[in-house]
Amino acid sequence: MARVLVTGGAGFIGSHLVERLLSQGHEVISLDNYFTGSKANLLHLLDNPWLELIRHDLVNPIMLEVDQIYHLACPASPVHYQYNPVKTIKTNVLGTLHMLGLAKRVKAVILLASTSEVYGDPLVHPQREDYWGNVNCLGPRSCYDEGKRVAETLMMDYHRQNGVDIRIARIFNTYGPRMAINDGRVISNFIVQALTGQELTVYGQGTQTRSFCYVSDLVEGLVRLMNCEAFAAPVNLGNPEELTIMEMARKILAMTGSPSKIAHRPLPPDDPVQRRPDIGRARELLGWQPTVGLEAGLTATIPYFAAKLQEENYQVVAHPHG
Ligand code: NAD
Ligand code: UDP
Repeated sequence: MARVLVTGGAGFIGSHLVERLLSQGHEVISLDNYFTGSKANLLHLLDNPWLELIRHDLVNPIMLEVDQIYHLACPASPVHYQYNPVKTIKTNVLGTLHMLGLAKRVKAVILLASTSEVYGDPLVHPQREDYWGNVNCLGPRSCYDEGKRVAETLMMDYHRQNGVDIRIARIFNTYGPRMAINDGRVISNFIVQALTGQELTVYGQGTQTRSFCYVSDLVEGLVRLMNCEAFAAPVNLGNPEELTIMEMARKILAMTGSPSKIAHRPLPPDDPVQRRPDIGRARELLGWQPTVGLEAGLTATIPYFAAKLQEENYQVVAHPHG
């Protein structure tokens, strides 16, 4: 039984990870400032005496004694990370510095939740970890992309300079229950729009591609990476099943039986044209690959949003199996 710190533990991925770690018998500390996360995501776990919640903003240091750190704290949706870009940079730079300082002091293993955004608008497809990326350092996505790139650099330098045992997960688009209704990312937007009878907002022509990983697969990858032999280099975690955003809109309309129409909106600046992980390294190093296909993942996600919308008194016009 280890004492494990999960920063961003009240967020979408963080809450699934906390649940998983508790079920493995670990003592878990969730640290969160509740910017995009919510205590509601952990409500069902609160009677577990091995879970401790700390409300803290990682731009400030904190002293704790732990064995492992999963460092996830950072808003992940473009809508949220662009709301206060300077804060996003502070969270990535200062937050990661503080967690690395902590890891160094108590000799904890630290895993950074990095992102496929470090590849920017990739010119190499699919993306392998040795690709350096194509990132605009000046645009509205830069606070997040460059923030995560600096966070990776800090991880590598603390490893080289101080011998900190690091893991870097480059996470590709992940979805599933507990995404917030107002999260702003594509799957949550489309499902909410479909279920409430609003137009599905496809940005641009919808020809851009993404590859979506179901959250349980992602959590499995994170846990395996944390517990594998020391490996101080990035590892892609994602589902290589790639589709266009228009295909995703049509799939969600079909699966919800929604009467909604598709409407086009302007493509945000620097929106990557294509994205698909090469997961060869994760396969080899961790024996990991996704097991939940898109259809099964959406089948598990749509009812979650339907229930959540009803709970919050939205008018739901389409029903998952109706
Ligand atoms: P999320 O927004 O649901 O969770 C982020 C959590 O971090 C929230 O609970 C938020 O309140 C907390 N947080 C933000 N700033 C903080 C700060 N300064 N101090 C303390 N807590 C803070 O996002 P998510 O989808 O669960 O993503 C988790 C991590 O995974 C993020 O680091 C994100 O960059 C990374 N990631 C996610 C995806 C994805 O598709 N979900 C893809 C790539 C990378
Ligand atoms: N997108 C869209 N409609 C939406 C939200 C997003 O067409 O309502 C597009 C967005 O432009 C991008 C893709 O879907 O091309 C994935 O967007 P998301 O914000 O989920 O993730 P990211 O761009 O960070 O991969």
